[in-house]
This record gives sequence, structure tokens and C-alpha cells, in this order.
Amino acid sequence: MDKCSFCGKSRNKVEVLFSGSENVFICDECIELGHGAIENIKLENQAQQAPLKAQKIKLYKPVEIKAFLDDYVIGQDDAKRTLSVAVYNHFKRILNKKKTVVEIDKSNVIIVGPTGTGKTLMAQTIAKMLNVPFCITDATVLTEAGYVGEDVENILTRLLQVADYDVKAAEKGIVFIDEIDKIARKSDNPSITRDVSGEGVQQALLKLLEGTIVNVPPQGGRKHPEQKFVQVDTRNILFIAGGAFDGIEKHISSRLRTNIVGYNAHKSFNSIDKNNLLQYISHQDLKSYGLIPEIVGRMPVITHLEQLDADALYKILTEPKNAIIKQFTELFKLDGITLSFDEDALKLIVDTAIDLKIGARGLRSLIENVLKDTMFELPSNKDVKTFTVTKDYASKQLANINANKLTI
Ligand code: ADP
Repeated sequence: MDKCSFCGKSRNKVEVLFSGSENVFICDECIELGHGAIENIKLENQAQQAPLKAQKIKLYKPVEIKAFLDDYVIGQDDAKRTLSVAVYNHFKRILNKKKTVVEIDKSNVIIVGPTGTGKTLMAQTIAKMLNVPFCITDATVLTEAGYVGEDVENILTRLLQVADYDVKAAEKGIVFIDEIDKIARKSDNPSITRDVSGEGVQQALLKLLEGTIVNVPPQGGRKHPEQKFVQVDTRNILFIAGGAFDGIEKHISSRLRTNIVGYNAHKSFNSIDKNNLLQYISHQDLKSYGLIPEIVGRMPVITHLEQLDADALYKILTEPKNAIIKQFTELFKLDGITLSFDEDALKLIVDTAIDLKIGARGLRSLIENVLKDTMFELPSNKDVKTFTVTKDYASKQLANINANKLTI
């Protein structure tokens, strides 16, 4: 019987067997294997040739970075300042050609704050400004090597992909690790309940954060023996981690209680703003929440985001350079229609977002719902050149809204 000349499997053991000249055959499996290998070699070659086109990074001062962030992110002043300094220091360190007397460590950042308050947006905006490769990864999908899920090295695969396999550029990129709190150990006391999976992932991540040379599978996926790797040095990659750390206020509060001792203890504790305990967050709290000390140590810069109130949500609708209202106005302009919103209509939309607890992330969905019929009808109506969303109109459009159907 005919056999694959490469793996030796006979025709009845494979799906397809192609024949070449003079009794040479190849099966579908060997073709697929060969194809994968060729793709890998191509990517590897691309990665090796790419350093020539590595981009120049401009060093922006903290004030410039903060001003850029102000164009896109509302409020969150403390986080913006902290992040601006961290990013400036980071790039100052890696762009510096002079030998420094003291070796300067890198300053990865951890941002703590409720979901939908701008953690990702801030990291994204910085990457946009600096024009460096940037990728977002979710800590919850990561697992220790050998378990179902993604190996941590895949984070770098994504960074390589956005850098077009330009290793040198990727090595100066920014990685945003979302939901870092979800890989926290579940108990304060490691000896009682060890949440092995969470801790294992933290250990694996540590390697990347510390700055080492990592073997990265250029196409992602799990490591296997025949795979070729691209070596990526993580020493100059800036890692920004974000997480909501639900319930961390409890840890902050108990630390503050124990730290305040002495004669005026009672008075000092009373002077603490208990409605916003997040502002006092420290590395100690992250450790007691369940991040291992080594990870916390590798994220020396810590900052927090504030919950967004009605005033902030209103500004998010209208002020950023790419504010949602500005985007829709532009969209209507393309049809020759001037779109405007009454102030109380916008306030109603903000109040609805608060009532439905969908925050900034839900604002876009609400506007989509308010404008749904208008966007359907007006492009075919030649007589209408202006359209104003009044409070009455917005309220009618939002009356039957189904919160579960909103995309947030
Ligand atoms: P998270 O804190 O969960 O990472 P994101 O940064 O993804 O939240 O925010 C979700 C969306 O909400 C953003 O894309 C943006 O449109 C809006 N948003 C959230 N916070 C802000 C803010 N402070 N300023 C402007 N827009 C914001």
C-alpha cells in the first residue's frame, strides 16, 4: 500500500495522501507540520532582521505626559501624576546612553481602582503618546506551565505581534496586565489555604517582571519540544498592572488601625477619610490581599483610581479629545446633520448610567440607545439638517432599555 514518504503512515491511516513523482508521497499531517515550521522560520527571520527598523522613542517630561493624559482621561489626578513620573523615569533609564554609577532598577506600576474608572485607558493613552508597542493581557487566562490556559510567555508573543516581530521595539514596549487581583492567593496565611494556581501564576509572572531573557513562541500556543523560540529580554519592558482588588478597603482599614498607636491614636484614626480608603493603599495591603511579596516588590510604583461620580461621567461624555458625544456629532456631520444635546438630556444619561451601575463603560451604549431611531431614519430624510436631543426625547428612548442588553 502507498505510504507517506516522510512519516511512513499508510494511506488508510491518514486523511489525504498526495503523490509526487516516482512513488513519492506526502500525507496531510506532514504538510501541516511543514507549513507550521515554515511559518515559524519566517517569523524568526523577520524577528532577526527587524532591529534595523527599531523606532526612536522621544523622552517626554512628566508634565508633558500628564498633559497628554488630561486630553483623554478625566480626573484621576493622583494616578496621572504617579504614572507620568514612572513612565518618564522608565524611558529616561532605558534611553540613557551614559554609564550610571548606580544601576537603576525599573519601576513597574500597579494601579488599584474600581472597574471602569480608566486603568486600561490610561495605559493605552501613554502607549499611544510614546508610540511604543503596547498590549493588554488578562491575568485570569494565565496559568502555570503545564495547566490548561495560557503560558505567561504568550504575553510577550502578543507584544511581538503588535511590534511586527521587531524584537528591539518589543523590548521597549508596555504591557498592561489587567485583573492582577484575580491571581491573588485566597488567604492571608500561606500555611493554611494555599491557592496553588494563583500563586503559581504569580511565580511565573515574576520571571517576566524581574527582567530576564524569555524564550517566546512566536506564534503563541503551548510550548513543545520542536518549537523554535524568539528570545526577548524583558529588562526594559514596562509592566503596568491593574486590578479592582474588591474588598481591599478592609485590609487598608485594619492596617491603619494597627499602625496608629499611642496617645492620639483614636484622634488620628478619626482623621482618616473612611469613604475613600483606597487613597491610603500601600504595598503591605497588596500583600495581605494575596499578592506574593516578590511580585509586590517588583511593582514599586503604586497608585489608585477614584470612583467616578456624576460630574466625572458628564465630563467623560463631553470633554476628552475623542469624547463619545464628539464622536457621534462627527458621525452625523458625515450625513450633513448637525447633532446637539441639551444639557439636561446629558444629565439624564449620566444619571441612568449611575442607576444601572454601568459607569463610564456603559455611557456609549446608552448614547447608542438614545440615537438608535435617529440613526436609522435621518440618513434617508433629506429635509432634516439639525437634530437636538432633548431630555424628553432621551427619556423616551431610554424608557424601555434593558440593562442586561447593554454592552459594557
Ligand atoms: P478599567 O479601569 O476597568 O481598566 P477602562 O479604562 O477600560 O476601565 O474604562 C472603560 C471605558 O470607560 C474607557 O474606554 C473609557 O471610554 C471610559 N472611561 C473610564 N474611565 C475614564 C476616565 N477617567 N476618563 C475618560 N474615560 C473613561
